[in-house]
Amino acid sequence: MANPKKKITHSRKGNRYSKVKMRFRNRQGELIHCGHCNRLIRAHHVCPYCGYYDGKLVVKQEQKKEKPAA
Ligand SMILES: [Zn+2]
Repeated sequence: MANPKKKITHSRKGNRYSKVKMRFRNRQGELIHCGHCNRLIRAHHVCPYCGYYDGKLVVKQEQKKEKPAA
């Protein structure tokens, strides 16, 4: 049976997984252009400007509120 030559310590294992986790986190924070309004938005998130995700309207945006006349 093939056996690992040395035991991987808890700290080495944790260190490795922390890097994987960081990579995943960075991917989540990636910036892409919105397919609808072409503004920079976070990847895997609904566009906060037009409410589109994957080419579909997901969140209806409220109409621009007019400032009450002073
Ligand atoms: Zn958009």
